[in-house]
Amino acid sequence: MSGLSAFIGGKCPQCRKGNVFTHKGTNLRHFRDMNTHCPSCKVKFESEPGFFWGAMYFSYAYSVASFIIIGFFFFTLSDDVHLGYYIGTVIAYTLVTSPMSFRLSRLLMMYIAAPYRTFMGNYTANR
Ligand SMILES: [Zn+2]
Repeated sequence: MSGLSAFIGGKCPQCRKGNVFTHKGTNLRHFRDMNTHCPSCKVKFESEPGFFWGAMYFSYAYSVASFIIIGFFFFTLSDDVHLGYYIGTVIAYTLVTSPMSFRLSRLLMMYIAAPYRTFMGNYTANR
């Protein structure tokens, strides 16, 4: 499995087989639940305490980019858009895509910043 398809499928960044999350992203009650260790290779996902705090930066960047793109379409396609429509759309978009944003941010954090990252090289310790 390639790194990109493993990332999109929510697989372990090290072995690309075990699931990072315990439920599907469409399960609104449990979309945040993660395995502490990879079910396949047993690597610990939270490599240090507070590791996933860094995922907030990815989530923040995603949100700001979304606001800018939505605003671009709102204010360039129409001359006179009420600001309330823009704000309402941004809030609705953020609520609807928050499970995806949450999961992608954590996966990005693991794939880019974790010591077992596979895009940059191989790593076998930290089990
Ligand atoms: Zn694994």
